[in-house]
Amino acid sequence: TEQEEIFTRRQPRSAELAAAATEVLAGGVTSNWQITQPQPVWLSHGKGGKVYDVDGNEYVDLHGGYGAALAGHAHPAVVRAVKAQVDNGTHFAQPTRNAIVVAQELAGRWGLPRWRFANSGTEATMDAVHLMRSYTGRDLIIKVEGGYHGHHDSVQVSVMPDEDDAGPKENPNSVPSSSGIPRAITSLTLIAQFNDLGSVARLLEAHPGQVAGMIVEPIMMNAGIIAPLPGYLAGLRELLHSRGALLTFDEVKTGLTVGPGGVTRQSGVTPDLVCLAKSLGGGVAIAAIGGTVPLMDHVASGGYEMVGTFNGNPLAMAAARAMLTEVATEETYSRIEGLRIRAAAGISAAIREYALNGWVMTAGAKGCVVFGPQAIRDYREFLTVDDSLSHAHWLFQHNGGVFLPPWGKIEQWLISVQHDEADIDRLIANFRSFAAAISA
Ligand code: PLP
Repeated sequence: TEQEEIFTRRQPRSAELAAAATEVLAGGVTSNWQITQPQPVWLSHGKGGKVYDVDGNEYVDLHGGYGAALAGHAHPAVVRAVKAQVDNGTHFAQPTRNAIVVAQELAGRWGLPRWRFANSGTEATMDAVHLMRSYTGRDLIIKVEGGYHGHHDSVQVSVMPDEDDAGPKENPNSVPSSSGIPRAITSLTLIAQFNDLGSVARLLEAHPGQVAGMIVEPIMMNAGIIAPLPGYLAGLRELLHSRGALLTFDEVKTGLTVGPGGVTRQSGVTPDLVCLAKSLGGGVAIAAIGGTVPLMDHVASGGYEMVGTFNGNPLAMAAARAMLTEVATEETYSRIEGLRIRAAAGISAAIREYALNGWVMTAGAKGCVVFGPQAIRDYREFLTVDDSLSHAHWLFQHNGGVFLPPWGKIEQWLISVQHDEADIDRLIANFRSFAAAISA
């Protein structure tokens, strides 16, 4: 309560805008996930590793626009590229030269030869699911319990199911995660557990010749950060292929944030399709879908209608080119690795010192603290996490000048290429104040 009072006191103009906004914006925001408690934060601008609210407060921005600001804000290379494109027109619905450069970069990094573009992570995973179905002529897909892949019908299933709805761990229910999604559709999405090849094998066995493929984050990031156990990703590919089914890696979040070629390059397991979005555009809306030659030839021949007015638009292509060739370069990642280690070590030390039930989980530029009795391997273990502490931690960080994504339990921080050691030390110092307060 005290932290909520500090929060509100520091942001009177945000409160005014929030009140005015409720008249014309549903819920006073432009996406339900912008609703933070006790009130939404209204930002005026961002520069480098910082954002500023309308009350003039400065924050180290580790929210990173829900993981899309790996470049930080107003990165000079992105600004240059976008400004030049704005002067030359932002939309033609015809391909431009930069699309070839971006696709070549992605092909080199992800080891998949053919690419298309879209505008959001949701569009990318929707196309991937459609394409798996279209290519195989099968209707069923498999997704992991607790995994988030965007807000289209096929994947809005068992995203955060309650323990009561979820069913037995070995045979989970397909639970619609939003109203408005017919059961007839959710029943086509079968649910497996992350890190459990047996659960996928059982589903393939129970539905012979009917599963088009599986969509999975190769490092699961909707429930803390859960790394794949050794052999899991290669095992998935083998298992699915042995039954004529396909594998899609959703690297919307992991993509450029864990390394230059995502988890795909790190793990050496190349899927049939990969989805990218978020950080790829340096802060401009974009998505990309990479695929094998047979799958993308199916698209090329019109076997699957992969379309969109703004797909590959010149603005997004210019921004992505700058991002790939000037920002997310190989050298960038050694700097980020240093900051990752600093953050993990500093927070882990405080957790030990104050004997908290907590874990720091990191992968490249991404990281989070979850409060629970054990390190997590799947969604069911994630259900043991203490949500109330996550919110209290978020408030402490916010009032201490560090902007984190509001659902600490689900969302991760993002270190940008424009952050430095002082920014990470602020995160650690705030965590120490929080740890001291809850231990008092
Ligand atoms: N896939 C993953 C793994 C995500 O984390 C998200 C968004 O958070 C999406 C897909 C959907 O992306 P978007 O919000 O751009 O539609």
